[in-house]
Amino acid sequence: MIKVKVLEDTGNSVTLQLEGIDRSYANAVRRFCISEVPSMAIDDVVILENSSVLYDEILAHRLGMVPIKTDLERYNLPEECDCGNPLGCHKCRVLFVLDAKGKEKVTVVTSGDLVSEDREVRPVSETIPLVKLAFGQSVKLEAYARLGRGKEHAKWQPCTVAALTDGKTEGTFNLMVESAGGFPARQVVLKAIELLEKKLNEIQVAVGAAK
Ligand SMILES: [Zn+2]
Repeated sequence: MIKVKVLEDTGNSVTLQLEGIDRSYANAVRRFCISEVPSMAIDDVVILENSSVLYDEILAHRLGMVPIKTDLERYNLPEECDCGNPLGCHKCRVLFVLDAKGKEKVTVVTSGDLVSEDREVRPVSETIPLVKLAFGQSVKLEAYARLGRGKEHAKWQPCTVAALTDGKTEGTFNLMVESAGGFPARQVVLKAIELLEKKLNEIQVAVGAAK
């Protein structure tokens, strides 16, 4: 009999005590949390103007690492979207615009300066520094965020921590997951289980059809 007890749930992190589950199954859930559950991250950047000290590539990389609020119900993975458009559509990508100018001696451009076309899809924190501008320098760009998976690039990992440890009592394990902020930690675990089940079903069908 499988028993699950919530030892802690702060929204951003969750610790579950698992009983009656083999360690390998619990570890599969942990691994799915890291590499299979999708989350939103900036993937394509069109730089229109950049007179800052950062190269375009560095700026694009910094944008990619900004954790973004993710709505898994409204957005599709680009490869699963029915638009079939390599540029994406409103169901598989979100446009961000950044238009910043150095107005004082040093202007710090932060994630809060990114303007999203979808109010629900925005940086988790507004205070992440992106680039510093001296007076007169400017950065103007368009950035496209999309869903992706941690196995493609770490920027798409929905959690910063997913750890499996031995529980206090014999035969129990503690699964601790800390969200990167895109959506609650408990949702990361639930989605991981859903995707693991989907994969197992695919294997079941494939084995049944194998000759
Ligand atoms: Zn689409």
